[in-house]
Amino acid sequence: MNVYDSLKIHELLSAIGFSSSSSLMEADLIILNTCHIREKATEKVYSELGKMKKSFKNGIEFDRKIVAIVGCVAQAEGREIFNRATFVDIVLGPQAIHTLPSLVTKAIEKKNKHQSSKLINVDFPTESKFNHFRYNKPQGASAYITIQEGCDKFCNFCVVPYTRGKEFSRSIEDIYAEASNLVAFGSREIILLGQNVTAYHGTNSFGRESRIHSLIARLAEIKDLKRIRYITSHPLDIDKNIISIHESEEKLMPFLHLPIQSGSNRILKLMNRGYTVEDYALIVKKLRAACPSIQFSSDFIVGYPGETDKDFQETVRLIEDVGFAQSFSFKFSPRPGTPSAESEEQIDSNISSERLEILQKILNSHQSDFNKSCEGQVIPILIEGQKEKNGQVFGRTPHMQIVHLDGDKSLVGQVIDVRIRKSSRSHLEGFSVQSGHRSLDIDSAGMVCA
Ligand code: SAH
Ligand code: SF4
Repeated sequence: MNVYDSLKIHELLSAIGFSSSSSLMEADLIILNTCHIREKATEKVYSELGKMKKSFKNGIEFDRKIVAIVGCVAQAEGREIFNRATFVDIVLGPQAIHTLPSLVTKAIEKKNKHQSSKLINVDFPTESKFNHFRYNKPQGASAYITIQEGCDKFCNFCVVPYTRGKEFSRSIEDIYAEASNLVAFGSREIILLGQNVTAYHGTNSFGRESRIHSLIARLAEIKDLKRIRYITSHPLDIDKNIISIHESEEKLMPFLHLPIQSGSNRILKLMNRGYTVEDYALIVKKLRAACPSIQFSSDFIVGYPGETDKDFQETVRLIEDVGFAQSFSFKFSPRPGTPSAESEEQIDSNISSERLEILQKILNSHQSDFNKSCEGQVIPILIEGQKEKNGQVFGRTPHMQIVHLDGDKSLVGQVIDVRIRKSSRSHLEGFSVQSGHRSLDIDSAGMVCA
């Protein structure tokens, strides 16, 4: 989501004459777009600010440069950022990023008059930031669109409801217009983004509230759009319509990121997740029945306050039972202002680290096994770009695996059939078997021959 917000910031600032620079020294404006979800992400902001200060040894650069902290850390920390890093000029929350051009203009005026410029906007504006975006820049073969923001679920560990605010959904036609533009610019895959995309409830062209399956069906009408994905979903919102669109809509990829967080019902209850392990298993079963090729990924938190060895073993068992194609796992991070940060049953950090290591080993081996099972198969790959290494391109399978293969940039944006010849945990390697492409073949000794 921050990648999408950064693209929009780029669009907004291009309109007032800025272009991007890869050099900290040359940049007139430095923006850190920040994440507050775990302590590590927040600390990274302050460590980046520390590094920045060091690289401008005598500090006079800050008389000329403007430094802006944007995103969820700005929202959560507010003025405290000015105290911890006195050279910061702008603090701006994620829902007000459309006000950045006017804040930057003001900051420039103040700097020119040698005045201090501590500008802050951490409001949740009544007017949506989406009305201010221009949607006029290409994104590449695979593109992001934010369709929904904020969250009303209030899991006890999570800062999102406080940093991104209440659930808000864009209208179907607004999203359709953005998707059509991106496809006209050459995108062939759209990834629909939101803190909980399955809670989507935007209006359709008749002003009626519609759910995500209606949005997916509308976007699938875009002729040159080949793939649709959505992330992140919440088990509580998966209804029969979502299950059935996985059965009927070929453009919807057979891959679902469905965070469970824990395999223990006791912990799920403490987290305020609102579902049980059995509910989750039933959703997986129904989706597999509707779409037999579907694969799942998930998020896990270990060391949640009160988590016993038994709870942790239940998470391990759940992973073994479901089998995930890939996953993300984290040590519980107590976030200021959330109920679980206040719990008196915090878990020793060494125990959490041990549990994380065990979990990641299992999840990694599942990912390797799944990738290995693809060896020898012919899989349609959307080619997304060229690798730095000469003569290679990369793309993704319907199940989000990265594939490397020989090819040139004319392939970017095409979906081509690729035979997988090798796999590792992180990616697959293959060769095009599409007629008309230079294709490689494997001989009986497993050697690749032209
Ligand atoms: N809306 C999604 C998750 C969004 S946050 C959902 O409800 O499933 C992305 C992930 O960050 C979460 O799934 C969770 O695994 C992790 N996360 C969030 N808060 C955390 C915390 N306080 N400590 C550790 N991990 C956390
Ligand atoms: Fe955070 Fe997801 Fe829970 Fe919302 S549903 S509070 S975003 S973890």
